[in-house]
Amino acid sequence: MKYVVVSGGVISGIGKGVIASSTGLLLKTQGARVTSIKIDPYMNVDAGTMAPTEHGEVFVLNDGGEADLDLGNYERYLGVTLGRDNNITTGKVYKHVIEKERRGDYLGRTVQIVPHLTDAIQEWIERVARTPADDTNEEPNVCVIELGGTLGDIESAPFVEALRQLRRRAGKDNFVQIHVSLVPVIHDELKTKPTQQAIRDARSAGLSPDLIACRCEKPLDKATTDKIAMFCQVETEQVIGVHNVSSTYHVPLLLEQQGFLGVLGDLLNIKKLEISQTQL
Ligand code: ADP
Repeated sequence: MKYVVVSGGVISGIGKGVIASSTGLLLKTQGARVTSIKIDPYMNVDAGTMAPTEHGEVFVLNDGGEADLDLGNYERYLGVTLGRDNNITTGKVYKHVIEKERRGDYLGRTVQIVPHLTDAIQEWIERVARTPADDTNEEPNVCVIELGGTLGDIESAPFVEALRQLRRRAGKDNFVQIHVSLVPVIHDELKTKPTQQAIRDARSAGLSPDLIACRCEKPLDKATTDKIAMFCQVETEQVIGVHNVSSTYHVPLLLEQQGFLGVLGDLLNIKKLEISQTQL
């Protein structure tokens, strides 16, 4: 199983969902069977009790699970049918661990966030990633995981630690992290400091983003890309510009025009990544 984690820094609503869906779609064009998981680090067990005015419409899944609209995007982009377990919330995973504790599953041990909650998160991810999601009914081979919220929040800390451990557990060539950051335009100048800071925050939490997706009002110029690569200690190819487009359905092409699949394929050691634009 290969995992692609999409996290975000600087601000929320930065486009993680769109980038996660687009990444899944591009991998699908290579013949991968893709599924997805959305992590929402809030205490609600599901989105069913949240005000649509604040959170957007609730998306009702086939099994009756009530989730964030992102799950609907994944279903549309990837041609999959997801269930309630494809959405992990803080409330859901705590409930799961507390129920186990009440049953006596931990046999007198002190139940802690690390390792019990973080193990439960990893086991949940591994189980759901293997669940068939498309009409072939076969086990997926790539799972795209979107970590909601902003990295560095107190709320997401247990998930960040679980994902850090999952990287080790998944092994080499099986885990890629795409960190989405903001490149603001101030007085017509593209500013890279928030991205440098976001990458530092990710690294101080033990994560090491492999790709930096930079959301920006306008296309990134070469000087800005080079500067981000230099200050964030990555190769230029690992910096991907994602500027504002008229329809989010253009984002997969935007990524692919920058050789995204090639870099992702190298990181995940997926062969056969020759793709023609017409296939998209
Ligand atoms: P997040 O998952 O980080 O909260 P979303 O993927 O839900 O963010 O995107 C937030 C909003 O920004 C959505 O309305 C989406 O349509 C819009 N958006 C995302 N990426 C782009 C883009 N490249 N160009 C224009 N709008 C975008």
